[in-house]
Amino acid sequence: MSTPNEADCVIVGGGPAGLMLALLLLRSGLEVTVIEKHADFLRDFRGDTIHPSTQELLSELGLLEEFLTRPHADMPRVQVSWNGTELILADFTHLPTKRKVMTFMPQWDFLDLIADACAEHPGFRLIRSTRIDGLTREGERVVGVTGTGPEGDIAVRGRLIVDASGRDSVVRAAAGLTPVGRASAMDVLWFRLSKRSGQTFPFIQAGEGMIITIDRDDFFQIAHVIPAGSWTGSTDDVEEMHARIARISPRMADAVATVTAEDVHLLRVSLKRLRRWYVEGLLCIGDSAHAMSPAGGVGINLAIQDAVATARILGPVLRGAGPVGVADLRRVQRRRSWPTRATQFVQRRLQGPLLATRQSGSPLPLPLRLLRKHPRLTRLTGSFIGLGVRPEKI
Ligand SMILES: Cc1cc2nc3c(=O)[nH]c(=O)nc-3n(C[C@H](O)[C@H](O)[C@H](O)COP(=O)(O)OP(=O)(O)OC[C@H]3O[C@@H](n4cnc5c(N)ncnc54)[C@H](O)[C@@H]3O)c2cc1C
Repeated sequence: MSTPNEADCVIVGGGPAGLMLALLLLRSGLEVTVIEKHADFLRDFRGDTIHPSTQELLSELGLLEEFLTRPHADMPRVQVSWNGTELILADFTHLPTKRKVMTFMPQWDFLDLIADACAEHPGFRLIRSTRIDGLTREGERVVGVTGTGPEGDIAVRGRLIVDASGRDSVVRAAAGLTPVGRASAMDVLWFRLSKRSGQTFPFIQAGEGMIITIDRDDFFQIAHVIPAGSWTGSTDDVEEMHARIARISPRMADAVATVTAEDVHLLRVSLKRLRRWYVEGLLCIGDSAHAMSPAGGVGINLAIQDAVATARILGPVLRGAGPVGVADLRRVQRRRSWPTRATQFVQRRLQGPLLATRQSGSPLPLPLRLLRKHPRLTRLTGSFIGLGVRPEKI
């Protein structure tokens, strides 16, 4: 057993990518330290979607039954109400998976489940409330991370450092890696809406803008897609938002009228990726390597698939005595680069329809007309969202 400040693999960030990678490496007998800047996983602005392919992985890991005991809601098809026209955007019921549904689970419950499974392994250490902001190097090689926790400065060393700290990673910047790509055309306004007993809304309502509604039992979590840079939080912006949402969804008008600028979080969407995902001793995965937009709700899936590929490729190397070489890290990027590019390409193409302003009575956008005319296409969109472009097996 190594000292508490050493591990086979040190992972920065306890999000979907970081915790799934930790679990997979622990199960192959390795020692893993995860460092998370927050005290818990109770953050509000994370996606809540657990895709059929992720549920397949949970089944492979023997965690599916436990997963299903936690609060969740299943969605076999993604339905859209476009200016009052109801249609299906994606159908999961034909997927070759055990669970043919997209499941909504508050991400803190999902991350707790994975962290609990990690904690069953003696080689696991989760350091919370600790923000990593620097790297330790020996020559060119990254051999550790430094940061600040509740008890002051901390330094942890590892044979491999994985940065899974998301789209605004400071670790990535410290490694000299800079994401490239055009700015996203959209931002998201994220706020809670009060809920009356028994009240429901379609998951996606669109027309003069788009509203995504996640039912969290006591309240609705709303994601409202707007053109990038158009929100300043001014009184005019708030009034315009009230009026716009009331036009898209008249039944939401009363509840949204009580939402103030302070209630609204502006989530800036990023759609960039690294040209190179690694430097000697350090690998970036998940949103740190490729920031995903919420379009299609596939970022969590991609982050988890990165983790599975990383564990499969680097686990055997870490179990050996030698160092993890740059060629090993390159193999992970080669495996995951194509699915990332393909997914970001589609997400960029979706920005137009997501942002399109449609007055009531205007025709459906072409992709939705095609889905309505050829319902079998909804199996393709179901496969893209539910499985991803290159699903990984453990
Ligand atoms: C508005 C919005 C809505 C979205 N909705 C969905 C959706 O519904 N479904 C979907 O699949 N995807 C969605 N996405 C995309 C999805 O959130 C990401 O692709 C996914 O969370 C990436 O997972 P990750 O583990 O790579 O990073 P993250 O989930 O960002 O996790 C990174 C972790 O690292 C921690 N961390 C950060 N910096 C440090 C540091 N310096 N030191 C220590 N810890 C640190 C963070 O606290 C966090 O826990 C959405 C994105 C946006 C912007």
